[in-house]
Amino acid sequence: MGMNSTPGLETVKIQNVCVFCASSSRAPADYMEAARELGGILAREGWGVVYGAGGAGLMGRLADGALAAGGRVCGVIPEFMLEMEWGRQDLTEVEVVDTMHRRKARMLERADAVVALPGGCGTMEELLEAITWKRLSLFSGPILLVNTRDFFAPLMEQLRRAVDQHLMNDRHRDIWRSVKHPGDVPRALRTFPPWPENARHFAAL
Ligand code: AMP
Repeated sequence: MGMNSTPGLETVKIQNVCVFCASSSRAPADYMEAARELGGILAREGWGVVYGAGGAGLMGRLADGALAAGGRVCGVIPEFMLEMEWGRQDLTEVEVVDTMHRRKARMLERADAVVALPGGCGTMEELLEAITWKRLSLFSGPILLVNTRDFFAPLMEQLRRAVDQHLMNDRHRDIWRSVKHPGDVPRALRTFPPWPENARHFAAL
């Protein structure tokens, strides 16, 4: 148990957290800082970080923060990105995979929870796949959006609209949650509502 944990609140046991975030080195400075901060926070909780192994942008800052705090960082990266030299060499572990699809699958398989920071289409498709998999009970852990400067407001509005128009079930609103700051992440993950084992039964209703 990490030093910031609150006894009695644990509902979800976490060892590894998968983080999706921007690879852009031109991302706003406060987003970069949030990524570095999150890395440090996860490491101090004793939680391993699983991410896409990139060195640039928020991805790189996340790894910087976690490694500087003595954390474990595992990167999962497809061969072609390694060939482009987009991967970091100084991680605790690097898992090389064949395809982007395999990478996403492995990141979710290795993690007990997902956290998303601001990002581009890559981050959003990773996040939406995690949400989709949870709807189908292929992944059951917490999915948390760190909503720095309200970045995720339109995406959450879009998801709410899908629920309101009965394209998703009302209960699917519990798939994801958001917090304002990286510092809110440990408590939010620990107290995340458990996902029902029978979720597949209302996946299509
Ligand atoms: P985005 O949010 O669009 O920057 O996408 C982040 C995701 O895109 C990462 O998880 C990777 O799948 C991929 N990606 C794009 N560019 C890079 C890069 N330079 N290094 C590592 N991963 C990258």
